[in-house]
Order: sequence, then C-alpha cells, then structure tokens
Amino acid sequence: MQLSYENDSRKLAVIGDPVLHSLSPLLQNTMIQALGLNYVYLCQPVAKGQAKAWLDAAKLLDFAGFNCTMPHKVDMVPLMDGLDEDAALFQAVNTVCLRGGRWYGCNTDGRGFYQSLLRRGIDPAGRNVTILGTGGAAKSVALKLLQQGAAHITVCNRTVSKAEQLCRYAPERMEAKGFSQAELTEGVRHADLLVNCTSLGMKGTGADFASLDFLDALPAHAPVCDLIYSPAATSLLRRAGEQGRTALNGIGLLVWQAIYALEEFTQTSIDGAAMARLLEPVVQQYQA
Ligand code: NAP
Repeated sequence: MQLSYENDSRKLAVIGDPVLHSLSPLLQNTMIQALGLNYVYLCQPVAKGQAKAWLDAAKLLDFAGFNCTMPHKVDMVPLMDGLDEDAALFQAVNTVCLRGGRWYGCNTDGRGFYQSLLRRGIDPAGRNVTILGTGGAAKSVALKLLQQGAAHITVCNRTVSKAEQLCRYAPERMEAKGFSQAELTEGVRHADLLVNCTSLGMKGTGADFASLDFLDALPAHAPVCDLIYSPAATSLLRRAGEQGRTALNGIGLLVWQAIYALEEFTQTSIDGAAMARLLEPVVQQYQA
C-alpha cells in the first residue's frame, strides 16, 4: 500500500523474527488512513534475545508503541513496567505502548478471539469447549474462554505433557488429552464448540490432520473454529461445513486483535464493527 505520513507522525511497528510476511502493517495503516490518524506503522525484524535492545532503541526513536510476535511475546513480559489483565493472565504480550516514558504491555489476542466468536453469535459461557493445541494461541484462547465463563475445557495436544501443564491453570474445569484419533474422538464427544489452535492445515506447512473422522463424534450443534486464516477454509473447516456446522476461520481474531491494539496505541475508542468491515476484504485478498 501507498503510505503517507508527516515528519511529526507517531511511529508504530510490528517486531518479530520472521516478521516480513506480517499483515499487521497493512491492517494498521489501512485503519490509520481511514481514521485520519497521524501515525505510521512499520515492520521491524528483531532477533530473539534483542528485545531489551529494541526497547531502548524504540524509546530513543520515540515510538508510540509496537506489536510483537514470535519469538518475543513471552520474553517481553519481564521487561514491561506494567501489564494489562490479559497479558498478566497469559504471561504473554502482543501490544506494547510507551506511556509517560514507561512500557505498558497488553495482550489483545484473547479479546480479539472472544469478540470474533460473539460477532458470529457464539457465546462460550456455560459451554464445553475442546481446544486442539497448547501453543501461545491455544493458551490465550483457553484462558480467555475460562475467564468468560466456559464450563469446561478439554485440551488435546500431540505432546500431552504440554496439555497437562496448561490444564493445571484450572484443574477442576480443564482436562488434558493426547492427539490420537481415539483421543480426539473422545475429546470432542461432549463439546459445544471446537477450536483448532494447532498449525495443522496452515498454508505452507504441508502438515494436516491424518484423519478428520473424529468430527463425526462432535455434537451436531457445535461450531468449529480454526485460528488459521490462510487458506480461508482449512480441511477441518471444509469438513465442518459439509456437516452443516457453523465454521469460523481466523480472520476475526486477526482483525479484532489489531483493532484493540490500535485502541491501546492511540488510547481512543474505535468503531470496531466499521473497522472489521474495512479490514476483512483486505485480509481476504491475501488468502489462498
Ligand atoms: P505454536 O506455539 O507453535 O503451537 C503450535 C501447536 O500446534 C502446538 O500445540 C503443537 O503441538 C501443534 N502442532 C504442530 N504441528 C503438529 C502436528 N504435526 N500434529 C499435531 N499437532 C501439531 O503456534 P501458535 O502461535 O500457538 O499458533 C497456532 C496456530 O494459530 C498457527 O496456525 C497460527 O497461524 C494460528 N494463529 C492465528 C492467529 C490469527 O490472528 N488468526 C493468531 C495467532 C495464531 P506440540 O505441542 O506437540 O508441538
């Protein structure tokens, strides 16, 4: 996209490694232009271990804030002067703001995911949820859904010890399982909502579910969400659609976490629904 900015425009960025593929600059600059804000959003590779050096540089260069992606989300936590409730809960940061010379770390992934569910009429309160995966995305989804009143969460993961570790957060409301067909089948049997937080089915990985037959055991009313947004419909979502279920990809999370991040950077309230309508077609252009 064509960027226009002034000498006094406030600087924002996404940092990570790798990061050059990130859609964040496109999404944020699209919103910045639409809202007439005097900011510019850049893309900055920062290697693992360089988070502190980046903070010093960003303060010197008077950045207003930045988003961080792998490998910095967890490493950034102890370097912050303050954390919002979700960043403290997930022990991971995706949005960092410089406020009064102090670094304030936020996490907008959980609320982004939760909002994307609500927008599709899916309220997890009182529901049984099954989550596939235990990475950073799975952790923020699981803890946000618990916070928002999910009754029970089953976590299925290839490395079952990581599922057990995640479930220690709320042992009375969480249960860990492995990732065999039998365990997946048992894991979804009582679910009202299934969320794939693994990278299986993602474009470019070449890895996908060995079988999707476990979906036959998922109750008919249960929607299926996949955090992946490229391709727009993973094999999991295609099978869910064939079964007549509501199928939701990761565009909603991507878009809403960005909207909430811009609210944090600018400390203003943004018309999220209008921004989501603006950004969704922008993301769709990048999908397979
Ligand atoms: P991560 O920390 O690397 O976690 C990856 C998870 O996938 C782990 O649970 C891993 O299991 C599992 N996995 C990987 N390969 C597998 C295989 N062959 N078989 C079974 N399980 C496998 O990744 P993340 O950051 O949480 O991201 C997870 C997914 O969410 C990615 O596809 C990412 O693109 C997507 N995501 C989307 C958004 C969005 O804005 N829509 C935001 C964040 C993430 P092990 O523990 O056994 O290794």
